Amino acid sequence: MNLLEYEAKSILRKFNIPTPSGAVIRSDSKPPGSPVVLKSQVHSGGRGKAGGVRLAKSDDEVAKTLSDIFRLAIKGEKPRSILAEEVLEINREIYVSLVINRSDSSIELVANRDGGVEVESQTDFGRWEVSDGNQETVGRKLAEYLDLPEQEFVLQDLVKNLYECFVKEDMILLEINPLVLTADSKLVAGDAKVTLDDDAKFRHDDWIFEQTSAGSNFVSLDRQGTVATIANGAGLAMATVDAVHARGLKPANFLDIGGGATVDSVVASFKQLSGFPQLTAIVINIFGGIVRCDDVARAIIEARKQFDNLPTLYIRLSGNRAKEAAELLASESITLYPTLSDALREISNA
Ligand code: GDP
Ligand code: MN
Repeated sequence: MNLLEYEAKSILRKFNIPTPSGAVIRSDSKPPGSPVVLKSQVHSGGRGKAGGVRLAKSDDEVAKTLSDIFRLAIKGEKPRSILAEEVLEINREIYVSLVINRSDSSIELVANRDGGVEVESQTDFGRWEVSDGNQETVGRKLAEYLDLPEQEFVLQDLVKNLYECFVKEDMILLEINPLVLTADSKLVAGDAKVTLDDDAKFRHDDWIFEQTSAGSNFVSLDRQGTVATIANGAGLAMATVDAVHARGLKPANFLDIGGGATVDSVVASFKQLSGFPQLTAIVINIFGGIVRCDDVARAIIEARKQFDNLPTLYIRLSGNRAKEAAELLASESITLYPTLSDALREISNA
């Protein structure tokens, strides 16, 4: 599960990792004072280059920039909130991340002397394994690598806090880009990108984060449609809409949940169906390849808990992990159909 920047930064603060002061602005919030940095809260990266991170110097500029950013879709995603932060006076931008090195079963700190929006073009990254006993050593090496000897103690604390945060919060990625060296020689997390390990959710009751259906492709066809469709892959999604139509039923939408679909993104997809008042059925037609049928099953179970008055579900799942999916759904007494035609016949007969 990927977090929004403001969510990631709220975790960093719990572990004493310095972040700029800021506030989350919703469309109905009072605008922040100026000057201020306004940052679109979407899940995709590259916001700066897309115009989603802007400096507003006057109150007039704040109002105009807020409305611009709320309307700007970044890789298909519009923000539901904007992070308003104090303006940092930047001396230098550094790249720091913690990642899991799967081949070594270790946690690795990756750094670059030149962070910022062009970091992808850098080649000379420093890499150090971080473990329970060596955070001071890694902090010292990082200070050397970055050529910041006067920041050695600060970097040692930073490595210690980042590592603790990464482990305790079950992260699989923690990226700070830029780690800002300010004009008054402070090191501050200017941006934060966090991916949490979905499999560790059971031990974190406090993991309540905003999820969107990013990566999916939703097309509204008919507000008065009675049958919603959920499928994976554009071809299967289109064929599903056609099959509903061929049965003499009224399809409401086209929805391809996308190859990167996760439990949360599929639950978010269900939310998009709430704008259709006439729905009597939802057809779910999944051929699991990269998408795992058991993840879709978990999303179905979760969606039934979260959304009241969900129309009747007509589900056909096959492929990757279909057996596990069938078991999960059976334990909730949710019916599965062997083919799409069987599912559609039931809708016609209902
Ligand atoms: P990203 O493009 O999604 O990674 O968004 P970032 O939060 O990393 O912001 C992109 C860039 O905007 C940074 O690399 C900085 O160069 C710039 N930026 C962000 N906040 C500030 C700020 O407070 N002051 C200044 N001068 N630049 C900023
Ligand atoms: Mn960034």
